[in-house]
Amino acid sequence: MRYDWNLEEIREIHDMPLLRLILRASQVHRKHHNEGEVQCAQIINVKTGGCEEDCAYCGQSSRYNTHVVPQALLTVEDVLRDALKAKQHGISRVCLSAAWRGVRNGKAFDTILEMVRRVKELGVEVCCTLGLLQEEHVARLKEAGVYSINHNLDTSESYYNQIITTRSYADRLETIARVRNAGLSVCCGGIIGLGESLEDRLSMLQTLSSLNPHPDSVPMNMLVPIEGTPMAQQTQPSSWELLRMVATARILMPKAMVRLTAGRVKLSLAQQALCFLAGANSVHMGSQLLTTPNPEHHIDLEMFRTLGLTQQEPYTKDNTTHKPALEAIEEHMAKALNQRSQQGTLRKLAVSQDHVDLTSNDYLGLARSQELAYRIENEFHTLLSTTGIRPFVGATGSRLLTGNNAYVEALENELATFHGTESALLFNSGYTANVGLLSTVIGSEDTLILDTQVHASTWEGAKISGARQLLFRHNDVGHLAEQLRKATGRCFVCVESLYSLSGDIAPLDEICDVCDHYGARLIVDEAHATGIFGPEGRGIVSAHQLEERVFARLHTFSKALGSHGGAILGSSLLRDYLLNFSRPFIYTTAFPLHTLISIHCAYKMMREMGVERQRLQSLIQAFRAKVIDSQLPIKTTLTPIQTIGVAGVEAAKALSAKLAENGLDVRAILPPTVRRGGECLRVCLHAFNTVEELDRLVAVLSGESEQLFIA
Ligand code: SAM
Ligand code: SF4
Repeated sequence: MRYDWNLEEIREIHDMPLLRLILRASQVHRKHHNEGEVQCAQIINVKTGGCEEDCAYCGQSSRYNTHVVPQALLTVEDVLRDALKAKQHGISRVCLSAAWRGVRNGKAFDTILEMVRRVKELGVEVCCTLGLLQEEHVARLKEAGVYSINHNLDTSESYYNQIITTRSYADRLETIARVRNAGLSVCCGGIIGLGESLEDRLSMLQTLSSLNPHPDSVPMNMLVPIEGTPMAQQTQPSSWELLRMVATARILMPKAMVRLTAGRVKLSLAQQALCFLAGANSVHMGSQLLTTPNPEHHIDLEMFRTLGLTQQEPYTKDNTTHKPALEAIEEHMAKALNQRSQQGTLRKLAVSQDHVDLTSNDYLGLARSQELAYRIENEFHTLLSTTGIRPFVGATGSRLLTGNNAYVEALENELATFHGTESALLFNSGYTANVGLLSTVIGSEDTLILDTQVHASTWEGAKISGARQLLFRHNDVGHLAEQLRKATGRCFVCVESLYSLSGDIAPLDEICDVCDHYGARLIVDEAHATGIFGPEGRGIVSAHQLEERVFARLHTFSKALGSHGGAILGSSLLRDYLLNFSRPFIYTTAFPLHTLISIHCAYKMMREMGVERQRLQSLIQAFRAKVIDSQLPIKTTLTPIQTIGVAGVEAAKALSAKLAENGLDVRAILPPTVRRGGECLRVCLHAFNTVEELDRLVAVLSGESEQLFIA
C-alpha cells in the first residue's frame, strides 16, 4: 500500500496504453479482491433538495431551479420498507443521504439515527452521507451502528472553488479525518466532467491515495448535467476517461472498493464490463440515484448473470468490529414475524367462514360435489373387493420403489390421451411439478425467459436450475422477442395460459410463433385453465391446437378438478428423463390409491360438465356487465379470476372484512405475495355462484369504490 504517489507517477499510470493499463489494474484487482464479486449499494434519499450549498453539479441545491422537488425527511418506516426491498435485491449496503450542508442536533438527526438502527437490523451495511460532521455526530452515528460515511472530495483542491464556494476542501478533509478517527469506514471519491483539467483529476486521485488508510470505497461519478445547474451545458466525459480513472484508482488504492455510480446508466454492458475488468467492484443499484437515473434492478441482475458477477455479502470487506453478531435463531424468527405484523402482512391460517365462496379455485364446484364423492367411494370400494391393486391406504414408497402400480400407469396414459400428448407424469402437487420440471431439464448453461407474472413455483424451479434468467413484461410478445435475441445456450420460455393472479390469458399463438422463430422451447403452466377452457376442459393449449408446439405443459388437479396433484405432459423422452433425473419426483412417496381414484373420477366428471363450464362463462359475462354498469374501476377479465386493485394493505383487509360482513368470502392478496402497491382483492367466480351474489359483491364494491383502482 502506498500513500505517497506523486503526480508524475500517477500521470504515467493514467496515460499508459489503455489495454496495458486495464491489464495492470486487473492484476492488482485480482490480488486483493474476489474475482467477479461486486458490492451492490443502494442510495435512499432521506431528505431531498433544498440544500443551502452551491455544488455546481447538484440538482438538490436550493440555489438552482432544477427538476428536483424538495421533500421533507422520510419516516423511519418509509426508509425501512425501501431498505428491505433493496436487501431482497441483493443489496449489501444501504446509503442514507440527506441534502444538507451538515448535521445539526435535533429531531431530524435523531430520526436518522433511528433509521440507522433499524436498517442495520436488516443485516446490511449502513452508510450515511449527511454533509459536514462534527466529532459528536460521528460518535452518535457510530453508536447507532453506522458502518461507513460517504463524503466526496469531488475534484482537485485547486479546482474545488470553481465548483463549490459555500464550503472549502479543508472542511471536507476535516470531516473525513473525524470519520476515520472514529474507526468508521470512509467512502470518498469524486466526479469527472466538471470542466476540470486532467491535472485536476490526477490531483484528486493523489489526494485520495494520500489518505492513510485509503478510503474503503471510492465512488467514481461521471457528471450527469442537470438542467438549471451551472453544469447543465457541460459535455459528459467519455467512458474511456472513466475507465482510465477507475483503473488508475485501482492501482493507487488496491484494497478500495471502486464504485461506478452517477452516469453508469449511460454505459453499455461492454463499457461496464471493461470497468469491472479494470478493477471496479462496486455499483449503486436502484432505478434512481439521488437526482440522476440509474439502471433498473433487473437490468443490473441480467448484467451480473451475463458477466458472471456475484453480489457481495455485507461486511465481507470488514474486520469483525462492525459485523453484527448472529442473533439466536429464536430472536431472528421473532423479529422477522414482528416486522411482518408491524407491516400488517403477518400470515395466519384461518378457517373459512360459512360465506359465499368467491375466493377458492374450485371453479366447477367439483371439490364440494357429492356426486364426485360418491363416485370416488364407489370406485374405491369396488377396488377393495378385487385382488391385484394393493396397497389401499398409503403408497408405501416412491414410484421407482413400491409406490408404482397398474392403476397410476393407466391413469397417466388416460391423461396423455385426453390432453393429446405422448406422455404424462404425475407429481404430488402443481408446485413440485413445476420445480421438478424446470430444475431438472434446464441447467446453468441455458437461458430461461419468464413472464414477470409466473407463479412462485416457476421462480423456485428457475432458481434451482441455475439458468440465466431473463424476464419479459407480462404478455408482451415484443419484449419476449427482444429477450430471445439475447438468449445464450438452450433457451426455454415459461408462461401461464391463464394467470393465477391477474386472471388474464397469454397470447399463446404469438408466443408459439416467436419461440419457433428463435428455436426456444415453450413451457405452459395450465394450472388454472385445466377443466374450464378448451374442448371438455382440456386447457387453452388444446383450445388453440398448439399441443405439438409446446415442449411441456403442467396441468393440476387441485383447481377446477377439485382433487390434488399435478402432471407434466410432454414427449415420452421427457417423461423418461424426468423419471430418471427429477429429484422432486424420485425422492418422494407416491400418491395413495384414494387420491389416484379421486383424480380419475374428477377427470371423468369434468368432461361431462359442459353445462357448468357454460354457466361459469355466463357468470363471468354477467360480472363484467355489472362492473361496467356500476362504473367500477376494475379491469375485468374473460376468466373466473377477477383482480381488484385496492389502495394499500389496510384498505384491502378492511374491504375483505366488509365483504365478509355481507356474507361474501373474498380474500385480500398482500405483500410479499404481491409487491407493495400491488395489494388487491382476488375474486374467483364459480359455476355454483348466483347472479344475486354478484349483485351483492358489486353493491359492496360500489360503496367502497374510492378505495379501488385498476391494478
Ligand atoms: N449532501 C451530501 C454531500 O454532498 O456530501 C450528499 C452526498 S451525495 C453522495 C452527493 C454526491 O453525488 C456528490 O458528492 C457527487 O459526487 C455526486 N453527484 C451529485 N450530483 C451529481 C451529478 N449531477 N452528476 C454526477 N455526480 C453527482
Ligand atoms: Fe448539497 Fe450534497 Fe448536493 Fe452539495 S452535493 S448541494 S452538499 S446535497
